[in-house]
Amino acid sequence: MQINIDEPDATEQFWAGMREAAAAAARHRDYGLYEAIVKIGKSALAQGVELVPSGGLFLWCPVCSAQTGQRCINTPGHPLNETRLHAERIELAEKAMSGEVPLPKPFG
Ligand SMILES: [Zn+2]
Repeated sequence: MQINIDEPDATEQFWAGMREAAAAAARHRDYGLYEAIVKIGKSALAQGVELVPSGGLFLWCPVCSAQTGQRCINTPGHPLNETRLHAERIELAEKAMSGEVPLPKPFG
């Protein structure tokens, strides 16, 4: 598959590929692979690739415990936005990817 970096959805495609790899790492409970994926993600961010909201799918959700690669589950008091992810999860992903907080475990 060829990805043209000038395509408007290239960023979305990049993170979609990363999410699929992260979901595979979660399925196989392969922490080494997960760490490698996060390393690639951080390096992409450092090079100016924007983190899309669905980048939250990288991490385990602190609200509903959805695992890496899984969409969030409806939880009372925590509405889901149009990305079907909890705001807390998106925020955690941004902080973890920027190194502000330690990386949470990928598997609940
Ligand atoms: Zn959630």
